[in-house]
Amino acid sequence: MPIATVNPANGETLKTYEAMDEEELERRLRLAEATFRTYRTTAFADRARLLNRAADLLDEDRAEIARVMTTEMGKPVRQARAEAAKCAKAMRWYAEHAPELLADERPAESDVKDSGASHALVRYRPLGPVLAVMPWNFPLWQVVRFAAPALMAGNVGLLKHASNVPQTALYLEDLFHRAGFSEGCFQTLLIGSGAVDEILRDERIKAATLTGSEPAGRAVASTAGQMVKKTVLELGGSDPFVVMPSADVDRAAEVAVTARVQNNGQSCIAAKRFIVHSDVYDRFTERFTEGMKALKVGDPLDEETQVGPLASEQGRADLEELVDDARRGGATVLCGGERPDGPGWYYPPTVLAGLGREMRIHREEAFGPVATLYRAADLDEAVLIANDSPFGLSSNVWTREAAEVDRFVRDLEAGGVYVNGMTASHPAFPFGGVKRSGYGRELSGHGIREFCNITTVWHG
Ligand code: NDP
Repeated sequence: MPIATVNPANGETLKTYEAMDEEELERRLRLAEATFRTYRTTAFADRARLLNRAADLLDEDRAEIARVMTTEMGKPVRQARAEAAKCAKAMRWYAEHAPELLADERPAESDVKDSGASHALVRYRPLGPVLAVMPWNFPLWQVVRFAAPALMAGNVGLLKHASNVPQTALYLEDLFHRAGFSEGCFQTLLIGSGAVDEILRDERIKAATLTGSEPAGRAVASTAGQMVKKTVLELGGSDPFVVMPSADVDRAAEVAVTARVQNNGQSCIAAKRFIVHSDVYDRFTERFTEGMKALKVGDPLDEETQVGPLASEQGRADLEELVDDARRGGATVLCGGERPDGPGWYYPPTVLAGLGREMRIHREEAFGPVATLYRAADLDEAVLIANDSPFGLSSNVWTREAAEVDRFVRDLEAGGVYVNGMTASHPAFPFGGVKRSGYGRELSGHGIREFCNITTVWHG
């Protein structure tokens, strides 16, 4: 894939970039290593000052960087602005909370005595340069949720961003530099995915984090495994959205629309499989389909647009194949399902019913505004369908019965259970999945500690 900005709304190539050559990559790796040696010794207060400054600058740049994101990957510009605001909030959150999240831990006095120590503690020390391989769908947020904790922990970052968002990638490097971080604290590597392996093998890289597809995750984790380097993987999802009879069905249907089409449906934590109890299936289906049909699809730079184009021609072709496969297998298309004529990689909000286990869309991630509906006879069947997926990122359940909530929280195979609401990340809550959605956690104290050397300090 060339490193280029290609506007998904019309297919126009706006800017292309040469990949960095070996000499430049070597310079950047050397700089990262050298910077880490001193940056790791800085105080939390100094790091926090720089990160807060980055947040202020990002706030100032919000409208401009939002337009850049929209022209690079097609998200509605209002959502792009909201993403930028969320990034500034996460930076401030980590600037404030990192000292307490990484404070020395004191084991129980009885255990300290039992070990023969006079005193002992656990200290979170930084690991070193971390490689971040990131996707285009939330081009600022995916990076910031890695960078903010990493920088607060005393690590330095090297970003290999998706090849279709180079301007956002370069903006991020510039943002951290303008905020006062020294050049080697956060660097963007303009490289294709083929160059990742060699960089990951470099001794100066101590760990890697990847958000993206399963094949990309597998490739990075394999190499990191050979090199015995820590990885965090945040891969795809096909989150269930379960609606039980006691739920506020109209509200659930309304939120379901947003949960499915946010970011033009290209979100790992979008609800994708809607599993509805038979008693409320017809009502939910009617409301939900009405809501999907009513969405305003169009130019993502238009303030009123709710759904823009998909980020790439390939992405649309992949989504179309999933829908066609389901249709051939006997699924019913309740709305959408046909690619419109004209420029841009648009695909309409689509609802499919009558899904079967043999259909590809049942097992694969539909990365676009396509929802699948399932009917469940009871709670047991709802849980079975929900867990019948290779993925396990998050989940949404709608019910007013406390006993049902307990069952879902006990049994759903996912890194999150959101009750009577939709999944949304927040700096204070851990984010990540199980099964083939990956491993490790981002955000919260769990996220910042992933790339720390958890050190036992024991005094005789
Ligand atoms: P990819 O996983 O291919 O891209 C994500 C990042 O990984 C990019 O920076 C990409 O670089 C890089 N990458 C790709 N292959 C490798 C590799 N073998 N080794 C190292 N790095 C690699 O996502 P796509 O854009 O191709 O999307 C495909 C599907 O992935 C989507 O339809 C969706 O199902 C899933 N996806 C999930 C996301 C999530 O948030 N969990 C985000 C994006 C996609 P480059 O751009 O240069 O190829």
